[in-house]
Amino acid sequence: MHCPSCDKPETKVIDSRLFQDGKTIRRRRKCEHCEHRFTTYESFEIQLPQIVKNDGRRETFQREKIIRGIKKSCHKKSISMEQILNLVDEVEKKIMEMQVKEISAIIIGEMVMEMLYKLDPVAYIRFASFYWNYDDIDDFVAGLLGKKGLKQHLDEGQIS
Ligand SMILES: [Zn+2]
Repeated sequence: MHCPSCDKPETKVIDSRLFQDGKTIRRRRKCEHCEHRFTTYESFEIQLPQIVKNDGRRETFQREKIIRGIKKSCHKKSISMEQILNLVDEVEKKIMEMQVKEISAIIIGEMVMEMLYKLDPVAYIRFASFYWNYDDIDDFVAGLLGKKGLKQHLDEGQIS
């Protein structure tokens, strides 16, 4: 790594630490000629496809967005942050294995829902309702479970 100040090739790593999501390493380096200090970041080369949204627009895969969506669905439910991160890792892995340039947001939503269902059926239903833009989750659940809404099912202890 050449020094950005004097361009000499001899620089020394003086500190390394894992950064943010554990997939990036931050290194502090010092030039052995001019003592200039600088920081580099190293991360895995991740090649995720573009997401094709329902309206046809493309966007880059945003891990944070999926995490936010799941967290919202798991509100007050018993899914840990670790389980959520594992789920998203799993989704990322599956997407990478597909080796495609573009992927429909619907497919990703379905992957998340399938895995979420195994962890917590209620979180699954909530995620599905956000995902499919149901205005009223109670109506949605009533449609799935019969006439009664989610709240009533929770009150009666049929869903925990
Ligand atoms: Zn230098």
